[in-house]
Amino acid sequence: MSLVTRRFLLGAGAAASASVVTGTAQARILPRDMVPLIGPGYRAVDPDEKGLWQQMERVEEEVAGSNILITDPKLTHYLQGIIGHVGGPAAKDMRIYLAHIPEFNAVMFPTGFAVVFSGLLLRMRNEAQLAGVIAHESGHFLRKHQLRQWRDVKRKSDIFSALSLVGGMAGGVAGLYTGDLQQLAQLGTILSLFRYNRELEAEADATGIRLIAEAGYAPNAMPETWQQLIAEEDLSARYRRKRRDRGYSLFETHPAPEARMADLRISAAEVTVPGKVYDDHRERYLTAIGAIRPMLIDDQIKLNDPGASLYIVETLARDGWNGQLRFAEAEIWRLRGDIKQHDAERAAQGYAAAVGYADAPPDAWRWHGVMLQKAGRAADARAAYARYLALAPNAPDAPFVRQQMGS
Ligand SMILES: [Zn+2]
Repeated sequence: MSLVTRRFLLGAGAAASASVVTGTAQARILPRDMVPLIGPGYRAVDPDEKGLWQQMERVEEEVAGSNILITDPKLTHYLQGIIGHVGGPAAKDMRIYLAHIPEFNAVMFPTGFAVVFSGLLLRMRNEAQLAGVIAHESGHFLRKHQLRQWRDVKRKSDIFSALSLVGGMAGGVAGLYTGDLQQLAQLGTILSLFRYNRELEAEADATGIRLIAEAGYAPNAMPETWQQLIAEEDLSARYRRKRRDRGYSLFETHPAPEARMADLRISAAEVTVPGKVYDDHRERYLTAIGAIRPMLIDDQIKLNDPGASLYIVETLARDGWNGQLRFAEAEIWRLRGDIKQHDAERAAQGYAAAVGYADAPPDAWRWHGVMLQKAGRAADARAAYARYLALAPNAPDAPFVRQQMGS
């Protein structure tokens, strides 16, 4: 998707030289016209392509060995299964890696390996939505977009800046080892190589929606993802009292998100076969990511982007509130801590709501206790702390909480 986010592109000056001229208004690209340009077992053909592949094989080694990956074997197997299902003729050749980075992003490299960011898994409501993003990335590979883009960059910028872009890849990916933000910013430069013009993005969308429909996923999942992203950005901007404009963000993609969503809606109707049963595989998805979901939510909340975090929590809660989501909501208010907006009260209400669910995390009880104590309800606070200690007897702050109970 090349949803390159602002965070990774801050200071990535080379990105500008890699940007591609926006096309003029074009007719929608039809899914039925999106024939894969490569078959199974594809290898680089031309000399310049072979050079690019050599570089990318090194990059993949770096990525594969990076300690920023989430390497849970079950989850990896699950993701590999999806790409194997929606990867078209190259499905069996593609590899997929999950990076522990709380951003909505996914990128396909020229040799057929994809890196999915953990922030993507947080936002997807079902497997069909995730499959849509992965299928879109597959589309870039099947249509040889990376090579077309690479040639475009070389043609438009001087050869040295193009080479330094690729040369910088190893350095940027090295940041994956350490989580070094400076080096990750370089990774943004790398990813900018894969920021495609509107025609290529539209091709990947049309290819992707066709692939998921053929695999039996509900095609509408793709426009729904865009709808969620647009709403998330809007809410994020409203809380920051800014216009929806994040500089180098996915919203700089061409065509505009609204136009992509509109095109995907029409394409979804086109690829839908009357009478065929499509599934979003929500349960299977929730089972697959269940173990890491608390971590994903926690990562997002720590970004202190209350508008986006609230939108995500509320979107997930459309499938049902639970203790985890109520706790997350309370944490968002507590971390923002705007006195005028009564955030502390909202947080207290959130913790109180969270502990009403059997799956409330132990920390919900702890914070519920803190809020009760602040409100002068000492006995209730003590009961909440007791519950916390029962659930997390070995928590690092357990001695402190015991002390609080005594006082
Ligand atoms: Zn894309």
